[in-house]
Order: sequence, then structure tokens, then C-alpha cells
Amino acid sequence: MTYNVTLISGDGIGPEVTEAARRVLEATGVDFHWELAYAGSDAVNRFGTPLPENTLESIKKNKVALKGPVTTPVGSGFRSVNVALRQELDLYACLRPCKIYPGVSTHFKDVDIVVVRENTEDLYCGIEFDRGTPEAKRLIELTSETKGKEIREDASISLKVISETGTRRIVRFAFNYAHTHQRKRVTAVHKANILKFSDGLFLSVAREVAKEYPDIEFEDVILDALCMRLVRTPSIYDVLVLPNFYGDFISDLCAGLVGGLGVSPGANIGDEMATFEPTHGSAPKYTGQNKTNPMATMLSGVMMLRHLGEIKAADRLEKAIAEVIAEGKNVTYDLKPNAIDAPPVGTSQVADTVIEKLEKSGNS
Ligand code: NAD
Repeated sequence: MTYNVTLISGDGIGPEVTEAARRVLEATGVDFHWELAYAGSDAVNRFGTPLPENTLESIKKNKVALKGPVTTPVGSGFRSVNVALRQELDLYACLRPCKIYPGVSTHFKDVDIVVVRENTEDLYCGIEFDRGTPEAKRLIELTSETKGKEIREDASISLKVISETGTRRIVRFAFNYAHTHQRKRVTAVHKANILKFSDGLFLSVAREVAKEYPDIEFEDVILDALCMRLVRTPSIYDVLVLPNFYGDFISDLCAGLVGGLGVSPGANIGDEMATFEPTHGSAPKYTGQNKTNPMATMLSGVMMLRHLGEIKAADRLEKAIAEVIAEGKNVTYDLKPNAIDAPPVGTSQVADTVIEKLEKSGNS
């Protein structure tokens, strides 16, 4: 069987890491037809827009995409292509498994946390009011009238939106994931002590949903307490479910616990479609240097193989990557913090080594 998959290289280091991932995926023996699509600055140069309609159409048609990171200009320029893509395709669950592969240098031994981040709401819903605009003024007046609270005239305002519908489906996703992956506990993360309505709703819906899954333990934790416990005893956590904004930085924190962004894969999953991409961004300063670690994108490819039902190929590819990490020889700079006599290798050499391992294990 041939799988039609949309391939978005992205920008910055995106083209290098996606090419490495494409090569190892093909080396598993699974047959892919890659449909190239564009996003980010690459797409602006070609089509005059960072997210062309034909990119969305390609993913809608193929249902699956492998994606490299895309740069988001800070402060001005286009809004995040990543956020737009997730919202347009309703890829409401961001799944980021963070586990330690033997050989990676970390402060901890047994971290195996799955971060489930809501992907479509919260502060990232993209509803903002710039200071001094008539809309910001109206909102300031409305707040004064209805809440008796004064917002400064020169304030910009961003809305934090959390709905019952959005929360129910992400918490169900986390519990269903826990159920199908033999996980024991789901922890809901919030600031309901301060944000009584938005995070309060998230927490109360999470508690309701938890009752539907009596075989899986449930607990909730306040975000600040979670941060402290994660850096002290991360092994106590199993599956974390979070609103979008907190999920963004907690997934990077968890990536740091297991060896860094170079080994942290991810997926954005909806009811009909899914895109697979590393947790890291486009690391612009390393563009074109054949330097950064392609393993996060390769491991996102492993997640894609599992999503497609190619379990054997996924297991073989994950094992090959794990072997390369464990040997610690042909790995990039981020996995060789103390390299003295054996220098790190480049992005494409990591792919070559993973392919060698796959070839040794046979294409059966
Ligand atoms: P980043 O993840 O791109 O890089 C931060 C640092 O992490 C890098 O300087 C590098 O030291 C290290 N790093 C990242 N990926 C690595 C890899 N594969 N191997 C080795 N080291 C790696 O974060 P940033 O610099 O904050 O963001 C750069 C751009 O990427 C921004 O425009 C941001 O918006 C965007 N971004 C995109 C996505 C996405 O497309 N899904 C995700 C996060 C950030």
C-alpha cells in the first residue's frame, strides 16, 4: 500500500530535518507518495501568503502531513502559521511524548511524560485588540460598565477563551490516550485559583470527564506547583492535559527534562486529520549548516507510522534511532555536550547512520 502524505519542509532548519526524516521513513520499506506543500516564508516567496489554500487542501485530501518548523515573526508580520494550521484543520490535540532514551545526557533517569495540549483556544485563539483602536476602547468601556474595573487607555488586550466543548474533547482525548497506551494517571493543569471562569471551567469539565474513566487515576495541579515538581521529581507524572498556553511552555520544559528539543517529537491531531512535527522551532541561526538534530522529526515520523497502523515499521525505526542515541557516536552537537576526541556529526550523517541500522535489521 502507498500512503499519500503531505510534506511541508518549513523554513530555517526545517528543510534539513524533514529531508532526514523522509529518508529514514522511506528506509523502513513503507511506501510513501510525498505531496510537497509550502508554509511560512517559503510560501510567502512563492505564493505571496504564508499559508496557501493548496497547502490546506493537500492536508484535507491526504489526512496526514509531515511538517518541519516554520518561523513566526515576533511582534509584527504574519500571525503564526502553526496556530492557523491547527485552527483551520481543527487539529485540537497537540501530543508530545517526552521520554528518556538511554544514552541521552539528562539530570533524571526515568521520565516518561506525555503532554496533551489543547491546540485551538486559550490565549492563542488569535483575538487581540491593539492599544488605541476603537475596538480596544469599546472593550475598555464595556469592562468598566459591566465589571467596574478600569483598564488603562493605552492597554492592548488579548482574549483567553476556554470553552466547555473545547475542554471536554481535549480531556477525553487525554483519557482515551491513557486508556489505549496503558497509562495509569491523567493530571489536569490549571490556574483555577486565579482564573475562576476560564481555568475554573477547564478544571470542572476535566473532573466531570474523569468520572467516565474509573480505571484511570485523575488529579489536578496548579501550574506553578507543577513547574516546581517537574524540575524536582518529574517521574511522578504520567499524562498531563493542559490548556493551550500552559501546554506551550510545559512541553518545552518536559523536552528539556528528557535531553532537549532535538529528541522531542510531536503531533497535532483532529478527528479527521493529523500533522506530525517536532516540538522545536526553526532555529534560524543554524539554517543550512547541516548541524541540528533530526531525531525529533524522525521520532515524529515514528508517531506518524503508528498513526497509519504501520506498527512494525514504527518499532523498527524507533529502535534504530534509540541505538544511534545509545552508541552516542554519530549524533549531533546537542547530544554531545562534552565531546572531546569524537566531534559531533551533521544532520544528514545521523540519517545515514539510522538507515544503516534499519538495513541491518532487514525490511521485514
Ligand atoms: P527553536 O526551537 O527554533 O530553537 C531554540 C534553540 O533550541 C536553538 O537555538 C537550538 O539551540 C536548539 N534547537 C532547536 N531545535 C534543535 C534541533 N533540532 N537540534 C539541536 N538543537 C536544536 O526556538 P526559537 O528560537 O524560540 O524559535 C525560532 C522560530 O521557530 C520562531 O519564529 C518560533 O516562532 C518558531 N517556532 C516554530 C514552531 C513550529 O513550527 N512548530 C515551534 C516552535 C517555534
